[in-house]
Amino acid sequence: MRRSVLFTKTTKDISKDEVSRNAQLLLRAGMVNQLMAGVYTYLPLGLRVLNRIEAIIREEMDAIGAQELIMPALHPRDIWDTTGRWEALDVLFRLKGAGDRDLALGATHEEVVTPLAQGIISSYRDLPMAVYQVQTKFRNEPRAKSGLMRGREFRMKDMYSFHATQEDLDAFYDQAIGAYQRVYARLGLGERTLLTFASGGAFSKYSHEFQTMTDSGEDTVYRIPGTQMAINEEIIGDQEALAGIIPNYQKGDEATLSTVKAVEVGNIFKLGTRFSKAFGLTFTDRDGSVKNPVMGCYGIGPSRMMGTIAEILSDDAGLVWPAAIAPYTINLIGLRMDDAGVKSLTTRLYDGWRAQGIEVLFDDRDAQAGEKFADADLLGCPWQAIVGPKGAAEGRVEWKNRATGDKSVLAEGELPFTR
Ligand code: ATP
Ligand code: MG
Repeated sequence: MRRSVLFTKTTKDISKDEVSRNAQLLLRAGMVNQLMAGVYTYLPLGLRVLNRIEAIIREEMDAIGAQELIMPALHPRDIWDTTGRWEALDVLFRLKGAGDRDLALGATHEEVVTPLAQGIISSYRDLPMAVYQVQTKFRNEPRAKSGLMRGREFRMKDMYSFHATQEDLDAFYDQAIGAYQRVYARLGLGERTLLTFASGGAFSKYSHEFQTMTDSGEDTVYRIPGTQMAINEEIIGDQEALAGIIPNYQKGDEATLSTVKAVEVGNIFKLGTRFSKAFGLTFTDRDGSVKNPVMGCYGIGPSRMMGTIAEILSDDAGLVWPAAIAPYTINLIGLRMDDAGVKSLTTRLYDGWRAQGIEVLFDDRDAQAGEKFADADLLGCPWQAIVGPKGAAEGRVEWKNRATGDKSVLAEGELPFTR
């Protein structure tokens, strides 16, 4: 992509209301644009990052046998009345449709997927089944001051599983934990993300959150030393639960746990029969008895992931994307594009890399060197290839690693990815 025609601008002019670091960086980089608090446009560069995060999540969900679908975001009131959540879910956007009909915007999809499964699951032979979607969700969050980390309109991957037995749900739930951990590892957050025990509701002892340690997180968790696990604030007072979680637990041990600030980047839950009962979803078991399937739900927020990564993996100069989700692999910078040598070398590199399927952002603008360097650091592509008149005359390119700042001067044929 040629920078001169890219639909974006970097800017220094950020509203004072935008207090979160991730939003400030992404706005400055021209990756997102804010329409109102908690509601963002993803511009072409930002959308590439979001799409890559979502692609990684899809791969890991597909790998455990889940199937993708997409459910409506506009819901009739009655499905929410069936579960009592029209009243109970405080963040639900409620609105009026034609004919004064009560509608809701999808905040989560148990109320849609359960009746949907009714037409498909009727026998033990139809189980287990897991479906997921990657979709825009709406929640009327009281505070939306964390940029992409807490939107009122945001992206979520939500998966729902249906099982004949509790044991089968337990086994799938453990597979889902593995899939989630692979997602965080691939996004560069594996080391910082803690499997966190949270209260489970009526149907299981615990649910699990995936909490990524960062000072900008809104949550506080108690880390279990020597592990990648933690305990949520709500359950820390429950000694019976603690005995099941902390190895060799002795009364009072929780007082020795240190707390860390973290952001919830995923949440998985055993729902039991709460929703299958509410909607009368049943199956006929092997022995002819009629039962409600037990269900699980598994959420992860791609837009929150993007904000979290922007927040954590960045420095004073700007964003530092992991290669797996960077908008482009190489940011090729031509200094003095009016120089014939620069023009011909940069064009050759750009065409050559693209012919090999390598994604390149080519700064071909008629702009000052300082502006181009600052922009490249701000955008955070993993590699920068810099060509000026002197280098072009000698067939040399400056090659810079954005994360480490390491630079080397390479001949054209020595450049990575050139062959
Ligand atoms: P939180 O406790 O942070 O409000 P939640 O427990 O309500 O989140 P879930 O309903 O479990 O969240 O949603 C699944 C995932 O969707 C979360 O783990 C998070 O990654 C993401 N998510 C939830 N709310 C938002 C939001 N307002 N903006 C961006 N991502 C969100
Ligand atoms: Mg939560």
